[in-house]
Amino acid sequence: MWELRLGDELDDFCVKCRRLTNHLVVSLVDGKAAKVRCRSCYSDHDYRKEQAPPSKKELAKQKELFNAVLAGIAPPEIDLEAPLEIEIAAAIETSGEIEAAAEPDPPAPAPAKKKKR
Ligand SMILES: [Zn+2]
Repeated sequence: MWELRLGDELDDFCVKCRRLTNHLVVSLVDGKAAKVRCRSCYSDHDYRKEQAPPSKKELAKQKELFNAVLAGIAPPEIDLEAPLEIEIAAAIETSGEIEAAAEPDPPAPAPAKKKKR
């Protein structure tokens, strides 16, 4: 079996050249190319097994999926307390009206003057 060695040439997809180019093996792991250097632009990168990286469209789709999963999984009750308190505190700081509105039953401002008999 053909053994890969440092300095060997192989084809790989170069992100900078955006195409398959000749690469030199600069790092080996378990006898397999781990890092390669493009012979056209001399940039080092992980060996991609000649696979082009996912396009922006694919990445956007993945991100969308990821966010959807996150939204579905995220437990609504966990860790909401602390940031919520901060938010409320910030809201009160910015407008004092919220504090008054938050109190359901404001105590009567009883200016009860004791009448002397
Ligand atoms: Zn290149």
